[in-house]
Amino acid sequence: MSWHWQSAAAIAAAVRSRAVSAVEVARAHLDRIASLDGKLHCYLRVDEKGALLQAAAVDAAVARGEDPGLLAGVPVGLKDLFVTAGLETTAASKILQGWIPVYDGTAVTRLKRAGAVLLGKLNMDEFAMGSSNENSAFGPVHNPWDLERVPGGSSGGSAAAVAAGLCAIALGTDTGGSIRQPATLSGVVGIKPTYGRVSRYGVVAFASSLDQVGPLARTVEDCALALEAIAGHDPQDATSIDAPVPRYRDQLGGDLSGLRVGVPEEYFAEGLDPKIATLVRAAIAELARLGARTVPISLPNSIHSLATYYLIAPAECSSNLARYDGVRYGLRIPAEGLGEMYQQTRAAGFGAEVKRRIMLGTYALRAGYYDAYYLRAQKVRALIKRDFDRAFSECDVIATPTSPVPAFRLGERTADPMAMYLADIYTISCNLAGLPGLSVPCGFVDGRLPTGLQLLGPPLGEEVVLRTAAAYQRTTRWHERRPPLATEGVA
Ligand code: GLN
Repeated sequence: MSWHWQSAAAIAAAVRSRAVSAVEVARAHLDRIASLDGKLHCYLRVDEKGALLQAAAVDAAVARGEDPGLLAGVPVGLKDLFVTAGLETTAASKILQGWIPVYDGTAVTRLKRAGAVLLGKLNMDEFAMGSSNENSAFGPVHNPWDLERVPGGSSGGSAAAVAAGLCAIALGTDTGGSIRQPATLSGVVGIKPTYGRVSRYGVVAFASSLDQVGPLARTVEDCALALEAIAGHDPQDATSIDAPVPRYRDQLGGDLSGLRVGVPEEYFAEGLDPKIATLVRAAIAELARLGARTVPISLPNSIHSLATYYLIAPAECSSNLARYDGVRYGLRIPAEGLGEMYQQTRAAGFGAEVKRRIMLGTYALRAGYYDAYYLRAQKVRALIKRDFDRAFSECDVIATPTSPVPAFRLGERTADPMAMYLADIYTISCNLAGLPGLSVPCGFVDGRLPTGLQLLGPPLGEEVVLRTAAAYQRTTRWHERRPPLATEGVA
């Protein structure tokens, strides 16, 4: 039995019924990581000992007749932005290298409580800034569908690990698309919940008014299970929403009759790869075949999303990253030459993109410029949000492409930050408006590079987004296709 291609739902059921032990499932994944990850570079750290201990604890709970939890024995990978007790956490940055936290973030605690087995920490763009995973201080991740191409970013290790069967579920974070964009480029499902739905306590901060935690998996059902395990109010996070968590897994059945699917023409304009346009339109036609009614809608201020985001995100990051002053994290400073050493190490500690953002953000927040840039961007943000409010009075869910292009070649966009930022054009408005958004595989460009359909919902509308995606996935087979790596003689 190839446990690495089983869904989380199937693994949890098998572990619970003792058809397999959690230790056996963990072992299978650890072996696969050892044989495959040299090519992909998804994992920055594998916690073999911790994973086997957690798995053994799940098996012991099952043997005692206790409920082992929703994700019993499910192998999970964590983006290295999640703070993990006793396990180095770097945010893929040299400045945090060597930092071993003394606590677990809330999402991590909740996964453990649900019986998940945490395999290790996944590669990402430094401090989650990027769209290709090439900004990692420890080297890029390779796309399992084509090793010469990027997996998407910033949760590139999360998406590629799920696509290659190196974990069943991965946690990522999404500030401007970093769950959905790599999910689409790597051919997996990813959901960014409503802002505040999942606690960010113990997640290294990037842009605090935008950051949100969410799962990536090969099926919509697995995303629903993971979200159910991690969502919900947390007094440790002041932005966390105090609303009950629905049983998402019970909301996935049924056809789509009566569902109004809004289609914004602004998202199909110039810049979109025509092959992706065709696949996404076919996916929307499939939703209609399942009973949905398509409604043309307009989101006129979406064209300002990119400019708005690339002011707000750097401004907030320049404030969040000020804490890495070379004193509290990562550095071992000798008694002499403190000042110079401090300057040098701090400069060496951040990569080029992070420095660019800190400079941009500091500039935009300067007294005298604040009104012209940051405040203006916040006003445009309100207009973008208002467009969505209006649209959701006419439809229940919005369907768009997730990415304008399929996975691009490693190095293709690194010299041109603007070209890199354009990869986020369809994902960013969702974060600016605080909405839930999901990407589900909807076909292959040229028959080999995956792409995805993006579904956006109203605030706390995770259920409608998941239900729509689940109905689509039940009648399509895209998610069953495996990357060519899988056939390279690796069990
Ligand atoms: N690509 C966007 C950026 O570079 C979004 C990143 C993210 O969502 N973390 O900021």
